[in-house]
Amino acid sequence: MGKKYLVLLFIIILLVCVVSLTFIYSKDVREVQIIKGSEDKTNGYAIYTEDGDVLYTENLEVSNSILNNVIVKCNDFTVKNPIGIVDNPPNKSITDIKDMVLKSLESNDSILIIYIDGLGYELYEESINLGYLPYISTLEKGAKALTVYPSITDVTFTSMVTGETPKYTGIHSRDKKKLEVDTIFDIASQQGKSSKIIEGNMRIVIDEVETVLNIDENKNDTIDDEIYETAMIELENPTDVLLVHFHSYDDFGHKYGPDSTQALKQLKVLDSYVENMVSKFSGKVIITSDHGMHNVGNGGEHGTFLSLDMFIPIIVKE
Ligand SMILES: [Zn+2]
Ligand SMILES: [Zn+2]
Repeated sequence: MGKKYLVLLFIIILLVCVVSLTFIYSKDVREVQIIKGSEDKTNGYAIYTEDGDVLYTENLEVSNSILNNVIVKCNDFTVKNPIGIVDNPPNKSITDIKDMVLKSLESNDSILIIYIDGLGYELYEESINLGYLPYISTLEKGAKALTVYPSITDVTFTSMVTGETPKYTGIHSRDKKKLEVDTIFDIASQQGKSSKIIEGNMRIVIDEVETVLNIDENKNDTIDDEIYETAMIELENPTDVLLVHFHSYDDFGHKYGPDSTQALKQLKVLDSYVENMVSKFSGKVIITSDHGMHNVGNGGEHGTFLSLDMFIPIIVKE
């Protein structure tokens, strides 16, 4: 190869480098979303990783690599391109519900989980202040807890009943997949205890647990009155673990907005269902949710890394 060609090759390589560096730097610098858990505590950080885990750390340092990746350096580990970070996270998480259930089973208490879909922590607090949760507000204040990402029902519900983050449940989306980890219902059954789920018109997670499905028989635009009636019958002789999943607050929130009068009025209906169910039941009760919701146009959505979506209440009545 002549000298001329070498010079030409060198110029081409130089040009490619310049063009690609210009391309990298012309793109916006990738940033990581940071949301505040609480103002008053210093609990460190919760980092949501791309593969669906939640890692806790006391210290971190965020930087951008030359290839425009976000690098989060912590004392014991490094995370590349996290989904987001919660600064001062609450010390409770949706994955703690499993241990709460197992503790009850250990002490031979039966347990009722009342699951109000879409009720984020901020809306729970707001609804109490506005008088839409008259019964629930008489109970001990719910703990603020983190949910998992993406903040959609299939993913978060699976983490609620397995105690594992999506990285370990394998459920990262609405795609139906066989669960590889045990649920609270599997563990209850291994201990000779019975479980049941009272659901809407379809199962959320493919599982062996007995599930009672409901349809909107009276065509009043919600299945929750039917779910409530089924639950009240079940409560005459409840299983050791009973989970009742209400959908209407989430449905109305999507349609009209999570803080709309329509959604909040429906929440008040659910509050009365909760009151009647709790008074019929002797055992431990957990009232909780899977994710929150934020306003979009005239309706509501969830699934994003926003504080309105990512925090849920966990209310316990012994
Ligand atoms: Zn949901
Ligand atoms: Zn929803």
